[in-house]
Amino acid sequence: MGYIKGRDRDQQVLFPKAIDDYVSESNPVRVIEAFTGMLDFKELGFERGEAAATGRPGYDPRLMMGLYIWGHLNQMRSSRKLEKECGRNLEVIWLMEDLRPDFKTIADFRKDNGQSIRQVMVKFRLWCMGEGLYGREIASIDGSKFEAVNSRDRNYNEDKLNRIIEHERERVEKYLKEIEETDQEEKDDPEKSVEELEKALATMKERVARNEELLRQLKESGESQLSLTDKESRLMKTNNGGHEVSFNVQMVVDAENKLIAEYEVTNEGNDRGQLANMAKKGKEALQVDKLKVLADRGYYDGNTIKECEEAGITPYLPTPASSAEAKGVYAADRFSYDEKRDLYTCPEGKELTFRTKEKMRKKEYKIYRTDGCLTCPLRAQCTKSKSGRKIRRWVDQAVVDRLKKRMQEHPDSMKKRKGMAEHPFGTIKRAMNQGYFLMKGIKKVTIEMSLTVLAYNIKRVISVLGVEEIVKSMRGTASSKDLTLFSRLIRSLRTILISIYEIAHRKAQYSILPLLKEDFYRHAGFHTVSTADGTDKSRLKAGLKTLTLFLCGQIRIKTAIFCKQQTEMIKDK
Ligand code: SF4
Repeated sequence: MGYIKGRDRDQQVLFPKAIDDYVSESNPVRVIEAFTGMLDFKELGFERGEAAATGRPGYDPRLMMGLYIWGHLNQMRSSRKLEKECGRNLEVIWLMEDLRPDFKTIADFRKDNGQSIRQVMVKFRLWCMGEGLYGREIASIDGSKFEAVNSRDRNYNEDKLNRIIEHERERVEKYLKEIEETDQEEKDDPEKSVEELEKALATMKERVARNEELLRQLKESGESQLSLTDKESRLMKTNNGGHEVSFNVQMVVDAENKLIAEYEVTNEGNDRGQLANMAKKGKEALQVDKLKVLADRGYYDGNTIKECEEAGITPYLPTPASSAEAKGVYAADRFSYDEKRDLYTCPEGKELTFRTKEKMRKKEYKIYRTDGCLTCPLRAQCTKSKSGRKIRRWVDQAVVDRLKKRMQEHPDSMKKRKGMAEHPFGTIKRAMNQGYFLMKGIKKVTIEMSLTVLAYNIKRVISVLGVEEIVKSMRGTASSKDLTLFSRLIRSLRTILISIYEIAHRKAQYSILPLLKEDFYRHAGFHTVSTADGTDKSRLKAGLKTLTLFLCGQIRIKTAIFCKQQTEMIKDK
């Protein structure tokens, strides 16, 4: 028995397949096409959101946006890789309608449309909300480090620079000494000649001067670190215990389907202080008045918890362990607080009353003490201070007390958080291989992340609803009375214009009509017009305008050629 035989590469096919036949109905690329087809690129602020009336036609932002979404879904983020795929990947050829923009055009599209690309992510979220895919009740907040385009060797802090400068200076001293010794001893066969040593010395002095300049720049900037390749990236502790020059990506994830509601890229090394900011962004994105947010211990900060409550957000996160326990003395929870009388009762039954206030780490505390400590038999277990035990109570301690109570009532909240927040990061970093940035600077990596978030959300919705269901639903959103009317109008106009052209063509005895018709379809977006259900009004308008201009231009050119030919024929006669 032989092997399964394929088709001969040189075999001619009588009825070749259309590109559409190679893309199955359940191919995710159809979701991209349906989604970009229902967007108004002019309203979103894209450059060339509306086709220009004159000049060389540009690429349709609908196709370019689709290309980037496809790239982020398929681990092809760089413009050069995308350029390559445009020429060889059937999915991309289908999506791009066989157009092949070069890598510069692809890269420029992302560079020129940063804010609008972010709005596309927002549009997808709004569509998902319309479909009821966001629960909008509970969200989790988490952060993860994404590697920046900056190696560790090109990141400095003051200590590192001082260490390097000191080491280089020591080497300079050593070389100077060696030059002196080589000169004096006039060694017959020295390891290095004086010239070689002087050359090495000059290089070292240059290095010292360069590092001293970096130190000066760092001090002047007031920052704690200096990164040379991506100036806004910072050396951060990563989840695996190491350190990498990264950005910290914060995300708000909805509980219902683990869809990302909002994100932010920061260069803060830790999550402390991010809770209120992210929770408010999440609440705004989900368009709700109240929201429950789950976060891990790293977000604990009294002031931000208070800020959340004031904004109608109920946070759930573990409170840190008491520092007193670590010191081997009674923890604060061994002291009961009487709210009415504003005092604490200690394990010995003594009352600690309010004495004074003090400020620490942007928080104001009330201090409680008792005079009974001096003679207390439990003193060794209770305090190591000579002046007796001191209880420090934050003036807004009620906020923390409420949080503790909530956590006791919902002991499984942290387990739930883990499953929600870590899913997107795991998928983005592992399955989508996007745990690192390709661009530099917070502004640009934020755009990059919006494409990653959009791709993740599309991937997630596909696994929840399936491609066909999504496409059906998206097509439904775009169909309206106006759209049908426009579609009919354009079809009629097309027929009239082609008839006019055909008359001109017959007169010109020119046989490129089929080719030209083909070109019309591609150039003026006829394909879109004939399947207008998924297209919006402004796009149809743009298509109509381009088509009219193109046809008129072609008729003018052909008529001119015809007249020229006729004139030449008369001359010849
Ligand atoms: S040391 Fe002071 S605060 Fe502690 S148990 Fe004794 S009396 Fe109470």
